[in-house]
Amino acid sequence: MTAAPQPVADRIGSTWQEMADLHDPDLPGWSRVAFTEPDTAGRHWIADRMRTAGMDARIDAVGNVIGVLPGTAPSAPAIVTGSHTDTVPGGGRFDGVVGVLGAIEMVEAFREAGVRLRHELRVVDFANEEGNPQGVMLVGSRAISGHLTPQHLAATDAEGTSLADVIARAGLRPEEIDTCRWDAGEVAAFVELHIEQGPVLEQQGASLGIVTRIAGIENFVVDVLGRRDHAGTTPMNARNDALCAAAGTILAVERLAASGADSVGTVGSLTTSPEATNVVSEMARVTGEFRSPHAERLAELRDRLAAATAEQDAAWGTESTVRWGQVDDPTPMDDVVSEHLLDAARDVGHEAVRIYSGAGHDTVQMAHLCPTGMIFVPSAGGRSHCPEEWTDLSAVVDGAGVLAQAILRLDERL
Ligand SMILES: [Zn+2]
Repeated sequence: MTAAPQPVADRIGSTWQEMADLHDPDLPGWSRVAFTEPDTAGRHWIADRMRTAGMDARIDAVGNVIGVLPGTAPSAPAIVTGSHTDTVPGGGRFDGVVGVLGAIEMVEAFREAGVRLRHELRVVDFANEEGNPQGVMLVGSRAISGHLTPQHLAATDAEGTSLADVIARAGLRPEEIDTCRWDAGEVAAFVELHIEQGPVLEQQGASLGIVTRIAGIENFVVDVLGRRDHAGTTPMNARNDALCAAAGTILAVERLAASGADSVGTVGSLTTSPEATNVVSEMARVTGEFRSPHAERLAELRDRLAAATAEQDAAWGTESTVRWGQVDDPTPMDDVVSEHLLDAARDVGHEAVRIYSGAGHDTVQMAHLCPTGMIFVPSAGGRSHCPEEWTDLSAVVDGAGVLAQAILRLDERL
């Protein structure tokens, strides 16, 4: 196997710094929230970087930046890599950025070394991976996979602004989403380089991870109906306290998720009514999610949450209803692509470990189109989606090097 040319650490370091500088000064951290001015500036900057590296670059109707390097076999389907450069509000400088800048550096290194690929190579900076107040995640990759629907575009935030409005205000064309779509036949494989966003690689002392599966997510809303009563005159044994039943449900979520090694569960919000200390709560709403890489485990958690709320109802004389919201199935990575990624890591001197991803990624959408794989580099202290997010430059360079080697392997073998 030919060795891929080494990425240049200084060049990645300086492009990373320039990208980090393009952040919103009015928000904490290194914020580049999708469809805001810094995000738009970042997208144009990425397109320019792609052109400097020798690619044709365009920005599609929802803001995906797509760089294309033609292959020597014009009929071969494209090999695709990339990630995102939008951030959560108050986010860090590595989530997504590493996969986009690592891919552009790889193309620079190919050009300098005179490496020509047989397949067309596409590098994508996906628009709005991180979601928005309208509740739609992975906007750009959804558009490319054909899974961005008119309902997604019509979804509104608390002020009634639709996702389509937000996209249009950024100077893009949400009415042309159909033009963003790729056919499955035009792509051979997709590989995403990303930071882990958790502590596992660091704890294992591993320099790289190859993702086996991306966790599925099940969102739930539990509404608890109790009885409103006087807090002073109603004896403790005569209450139907909705908030007490909700508290039991919250602890059950924690207990159920922790009862297996392969799941997490989080209650993110609790609202009650009335909000008064002299009234026994009549209503409580608990919203949260379960995640697991295994569909059977998610199904089990659904059943056990239903049983747990029934137990609370029996104890408190309340009535709970559980509604399941957006459900994302677990996404397995392709075995063949993953083997190539492990071999590519070995080719350049790394023993990568297999790891599952608890976070969602654009890869989930690309998996609708073609075989996919992911390369993780460690996150210091497992911190992510915060200003402290950190990955050493040497690890970013290692990740880009394995990506380059993996692309050469796929180009030769697919
Ligand atoms: Zn990300």
